[in-house]
Amino acid sequence: MAKVIPVTQPFLPPLDELHAYLEKIWQDKCLTNNGPFLQQLEGELAEYLGVPHVSLLANGTIALVVAMQALGIKGEVITTPFSFVATAHSLLWNGIKPVFVDIDPVTLNLDPNKVEAAITPQTAAILPVHVYGRPADVDRLQGIADAHGLKLVYDAAHAFAVRHRGASLLGHGDMSVLSFHATKVFNTFEGGAIVCRDEETKRRIYFLKNFGIADEVTVVAPGINGKMNEFQAALGLLQLKYIDRCIAKRREIDKVYREELAGVPGIQFLSILPETESNYAYFPILVGPGHALTRDGLYQKLRERDIHARRYFYPLISDFPMYRDLPSAALDKLPVARRVADQILCLPIYPDLTRDEQERVIDVLRGG
Ligand SMILES: *Cc1c(COP(=O)(O)O)cnc(C)c1O
Repeated sequence: MAKVIPVTQPFLPPLDELHAYLEKIWQDKCLTNNGPFLQQLEGELAEYLGVPHVSLLANGTIALVVAMQALGIKGEVITTPFSFVATAHSLLWNGIKPVFVDIDPVTLNLDPNKVEAAITPQTAAILPVHVYGRPADVDRLQGIADAHGLKLVYDAAHAFAVRHRGASLLGHGDMSVLSFHATKVFNTFEGGAIVCRDEETKRRIYFLKNFGIADEVTVVAPGINGKMNEFQAALGLLQLKYIDRCIAKRREIDKVYREELAGVPGIQFLSILPETESNYAYFPILVGPGHALTRDGLYQKLRERDIHARRYFYPLISDFPMYRDLPSAALDKLPVARRVADQILCLPIYPDLTRDEQERVIDVLRGG
């Protein structure tokens, strides 16, 4: 039987290189709570990404929850239905009402043309996603946020190392939130981060991820336990040494798909957006009416060949039971997101995907 090809597979650095990190942890017995590896990783990531401040957290979802807390966001937040469900869940965990707005057909991100109409006196913030690492319309979203006095927090879980107009994509808005989950371009098994602009905000995040504790006798906020531990931080330091090679491998795979799938009827892939250095985190295609199979037919056929493509993001977040009764989730409100969710399919892409394995995927798409 052929080997299963997953949609993604984590890169793991050589095991022997982990040993030195573990020895230090065993020796110092500092396992968590702002330890030396965590501080080193915060510094190295800020430098690598080209951003002012990085706070590390236990995972991306807690990082989103803490980001909202740190900015004091309440009421309503405008967000996209076309994302991983954690984007909107982070709002519910803060007692915030999500307001879904449709996406742009080219970027597949929150459509700035439709954001203003969704603003009410209760709106406190906009939470766009750089889906697949493709930049949202950062200029127009910032313009709208400024004009209406709203906070702007990016779910940048897919956008590690993405550069836009020669600078980090993560420098926009009030904060950007990253995920270092096993399925992401850069992983610490589980992990996440908040990128923020100033030292004071970083301090607030520091309190919030550690129960709100400021010192032995002072608790300043109802914080949570959102800390990243030293083992995760060590994995991150090691991973960072390989990240450029990993992204380069992804770039090659992306290029082969684009060359080999060009001209397959009914298959459309997303253009690389202008002035963007991608991280090649995903390879989404749209399966249109011109293809021999429906999207689900193609998904099924790939499954039969042990290729686990994924329908990211179908169903829309707004269709899940805890969201579908919101007025903004109504069937006719999100036509672009609905069409895209029905056509999208993410193909396997990860550093260890071999050319032969990729040919197996391409063969099915060409009708083989
Ligand atoms: C992965 C992901 C998250 C959640 O991150 P975790 O680290 O898994 O908690 C949030 N938003 C998006 C868009 C994601 O893809």
